[in-house]
Amino acid sequence: TISGKQNTGGSRILVFVRLRPMTKKEKEGGSRSCVRILNRRDVYLTELATEHDYLRLKRVRGRHFTFDASFPDSTTQKEVYSTTTAELVEAVLRGRNGSVFCYGATGAGKTYTMLGTVENPGVMVLAIKDLFNKIKQRSFDGNHVVHLSYLEVYNETVKDLLSPGRPLVLREDKQGIMAAGLTQYRAYSTDEVMALLQLGNQNRTTEPTRANETSSRSHAILQVVVEYRVKDASNNVVNRVGKLSLIDLAGSERALATDQRTLRALEGANINKSLLALSSCINALVEGKKHIPYRNSKLTQLLKDSLGGPCNTVMIANISPSNLSFGETQNTLHWADRAK
Ligand code: ADP
Ligand code: MG
Repeated sequence: TISGKQNTGGSRILVFVRLRPMTKKEKEGGSRSCVRILNRRDVYLTELATEHDYLRLKRVRGRHFTFDASFPDSTTQKEVYSTTTAELVEAVLRGRNGSVFCYGATGAGKTYTMLGTVENPGVMVLAIKDLFNKIKQRSFDGNHVVHLSYLEVYNETVKDLLSPGRPLVLREDKQGIMAAGLTQYRAYSTDEVMALLQLGNQNRTTEPTRANETSSRSHAILQVVVEYRVKDASNNVVNRVGKLSLIDLAGSERALATDQRTLRALEGANINKSLLALSSCINALVEGKKHIPYRNSKLTQLLKDSLGGPCNTVMIANISPSNLSFGETQNTLHWADRAK
């Protein structure tokens, strides 16, 4: 197991990097790889691309990053799931909340990592599969009930991806912040889930000019809520709830804020309020601040009970190997480096 940094709020953030393979199009276009991953931890980034350059870079310029784990392009979906998310599924079954984010530029592999394909299902599907398996293995089956909701934040509007219609309104009650009228789909097995999620994904907002492509500004959030009963120390049956949030974030290419000044400029330009607010919350958590600015966006309001506090937070930074994406990759790695 990997132990993340424990900060004063008692929350921990684990940061991973996943490099995707070069696409056919990139290969045909003559792209060269500008990323190398060594020892499953160290990421080297260079615009130069020979073996000698990498060695020189390591010694001289040291543009080199280290994360809790870094996945080379040969890494399977299952490996990514078991290293990043399996522990959070365990935690949910102990009544804790957690969240997993995929962060990175458009085309870097976020949706592949989160949703995946029918042949190679991603973290969302593997987490639900694992959850059902673990429930089955429990000696005391406390009538586990699993509910799924799948929603989108686009331009600070919240949409139900399982039942698209009018925008949802966020309400705050004693339990926390919830989206009024959001579909809570009761899941009984894994089989139905992939189709459900694929369908939901098709309901994500597209840009009018690119009707078949999901907008790079759309955040998709899958929330898996498990309610169950357990026997406590004195053999009384008590209710517990755990929630896992799995988030396919909007493309980070328009939110390249690596310092406070750019952050403010971007905020002024109203680029992607939710992505910037998430950055601010993560920074505040990492720095152990008391005040976490959850209120600044819809995304952070929705995730308030799954970020910080006694929650586990996982970041997967997705990157492309192509030298044409050098700038975006560098920004993603810098951002991920600061989230550690
Ligand atoms: P994003 O959601 O970040 O915009 P995608 O997940 O859509 O990016 O990935 C872009 C392309 O690369 C897609 O065609 C996807 O199938 C492919 N891809 C991404 N990651 C991998 C991977 N690990 N293995 C194989 N193909 C991948
Ligand atoms: Mg995507």
